[in-house]
Amino acid sequence: MEFVLYEAKDKIATITLNRPDARNAQNKQLLDELDACWTQAALDDDVRVIVLKANGPHFSSGHDISLRPGEKPPADYANKGLAAIFHYERVQFLGYSRKWRDVPKPSIAAVQGACIAAGMMLCWPCDLIVAAENAFFSDPVVRMGIGGVEYHGHTWEFGARKAKELLFTAGRFDAREAHRLGMVNRVVPLEKLEEETFALARQIAEMHPFALAQAKRMVNSTLDIMGQYNALQAAFDIHTTGHGNALSLTGAPMLIDLEAMKKAQR
Ligand code: ZN
Repeated sequence: MEFVLYEAKDKIATITLNRPDARNAQNKQLLDELDACWTQAALDDDVRVIVLKANGPHFSSGHDISLRPGEKPPADYANKGLAAIFHYERVQFLGYSRKWRDVPKPSIAAVQGACIAAGMMLCWPCDLIVAAENAFFSDPVVRMGIGGVEYHGHTWEFGARKAKELLFTAGRFDAREAHRLGMVNRVVPLEKLEEETFALARQIAEMHPFALAQAKRMVNSTLDIMGQYNALQAAFDIHTTGHGNALSLTGAPMLIDLEAMKKAQR
């Protein structure tokens, strides 16, 4: 594996995003490697707890769109039309995040620095989030003509008003605010992020694994009975209309260049 590291020892699987030069931007290969790690951790009976962390100063800057103004999106979806985008994102983005959310073992994300847009689609599926004091969270994709990322955790994670504020302003909030809103379990100094995360992981790893799986299932089932599963599907479809609108206006799945933005705003 090139962009993700995996290690399992002492009942804990550690999955590490390892593309720090690109601020752990997510391309197809990184996501496929990440999914392989989650799957391996899920299947390994010796693994009781999964830790997801990131090398480098930032957790993840989101999907790798690597675009300059005026450039067409590369690689992953090519320009194959809305159906191709829908199928790709349903599996690769919504599908993976939802799958990781349902792995029947406790998972903890350790987040530092930037966690932008699809960055949150990596930490939201984890059961617990430990954030460094310098962590910040943002979903600015309204700037690209789309209402929010593919996995609409926002409203569930921090409530309707904050979700709207974050999306409407393309703003950000820091680790303390994330903690106050209930999105983050603990805020710790950056230099203690790993230590505190693994202390928590070791504590949980001593519990009965089946009971842990059942506790997780109780909470996740409650969320799904409250409508989370269906809401995620509906929000994903709404997200796709954003790509459709951008495609119809510019031939590209996102509004990146300023001229296209202006045209879309009219
Ligand atoms: Zn998308």
